[in-house]
Amino acid sequence: MSATALVLFSGGQDSTTCLAWALDRYERVETVGFDYGQRHRIELECRDTLRARLRAINPAWADKLGDDHTISLAALGEISNTALTSTIAIEMADTGLPNTFVPGRNLIFLTFAAALAYRRGLKHIVGGMCETDFSGYPDCRDDTMKALQVALNLGMETRFVLDTPLMWIDKAQTWQLAQDLGGKELVDVIVKESHTCYLGERGDLHEWGYGCGVCPACDLRAKGYRKFAAEAA
Ligand code: ZN
Repeated sequence: MSATALVLFSGGQDSTTCLAWALDRYERVETVGFDYGQRHRIELECRDTLRARLRAINPAWADKLGDDHTISLAALGEISNTALTSTIAIEMADTGLPNTFVPGRNLIFLTFAAALAYRRGLKHIVGGMCETDFSGYPDCRDDTMKALQVALNLGMETRFVLDTPLMWIDKAQTWQLAQDLGGKELVDVIVKESHTCYLGERGDLHEWGYGCGVCPACDLRAKGYRKFAAEAA
């Protein structure tokens, strides 16, 4: 029980790096993805390929990687009219937050993940939340995670640990972490098979991966990759 984990796995760069991190560390690892009608749900379709490719990179990871779960959260799409779930332009809203913000999304994801982890007997819940390349999402904050860990453990009478390995590193360091965990092979898999673009576009293959190249998620991913590549050179 103690060395087991459930990874919030969307099929993007961050959650794929988190999955490799968990496979490196824990004995049994399962994954969960959420379908809430997001425009970039192409991510969800990348998940099976990514899981297979990670298995192929490292036989030890193949032994540890267990079941994948998909949870439908259509209600989340219904109550949030945002640029992630509707076809409106991505821009900054009056609140100072980008309008890709789905209010409380990570609180909902983690609560569902905890209910699943409880049933599956998994101790660690791993997510790619990050304060460093902070888009201003308050539900990615370290304090939010710590408060939620307490609330979940009280509410379920258990001892979950919420792991957020990316919390204090930037996107360049996230690429470096992938390289440290799985070498160039893992970096290549993340470039070619993971999806980050908010618009859900595969588009052309850039050095940093597929995507529209101009949305905030592509911009962050591209800048991080270029910094990582420059430092590695
Ligand atoms: Zn994009």
